[in-house]
Amino acid sequence: RADGIDLKAHIRSVPDFPKPGILFYDISTLLRDADAWQIAIARMTRALTPRRPELLAGIESRGFLLAAPLASRLGLGFTMIRKPGKLPGPTVGLDYELEYGSDRLEIQQDAVRPGQRVVVLDDLLATGGTMAAAISLLQQVGAEVVSAAVTIELNFLGGRDKLGVPVDALVSYD
Ligand code: IMP
Repeated sequence: RADGIDLKAHIRSVPDFPKPGILFYDISTLLRDADAWQIAIARMTRALTPRRPELLAGIESRGFLLAAPLASRLGLGFTMIRKPGKLPGPTVGLDYELEYGSDRLEIQQDAVRPGQRVVVLDDLLATGGTMAAAISLLQQVGAEVVSAAVTIELNFLGGRDKLGVPVDALVSYD
C-alpha cells in the first residue's frame, strides 16, 4: 500500500474465543496503535467517499468506534443501532438468528430522514446476519442504505451475499 501499513499485522486472532473452536479477530491491537488506527480511518474514508453518504450508522458497540470518527472526518452525523432496551422513545426492532441462538437490534423511528443515503458500519462481517438486520432496520425507518463497511470480512462465510448492498472491507480472510 502507498501508506505502507499492513493492517492485518495489527489484528490479533484469538483461538477459542468466545467459545471453543471459534477463531476471534480482535481489533483491540489495531485501536491502540495510533498510526495503524489513523491509517485504517483514512482508508475507510477513501472507501466511503464515493458512496456519497449523508449519514453514517454504527452497530453497537464496535461499529460505533468506526462510525463516530468517520462521520467526523466526512462532516456527517451518525446514528446508533443498538442492543435491546437502550434507545429511548419509539423504536423499531428486529430479531435475527445467530449460529447458536438469536439476537436483537433496535433503531429509533426518527433515526434518519426519508430517503437519506446511509452507510452502515461494523467491525467485522461474518455470516452477515447482524449486518442484514441493521440494513433492514434502516430501510424500515426510511433510509436508502447505499453500502455497508467493515474493518474485517470473513470471505468464506459469504456474508456479503445476504446484504443486497455493496460492501467495503479493509481486510479480508479466506
Ligand atoms: P455475523 O452476524 O455472523 O456477520 O457476525 C458479525 C457480528 O459478530 C459483528 O457485530 C461482530 O462484531 C461480531 N463478531 C463475529 N465474529 C467476530 C470476530 O471474530 N471478531 C470480532 N467480532 C466478531
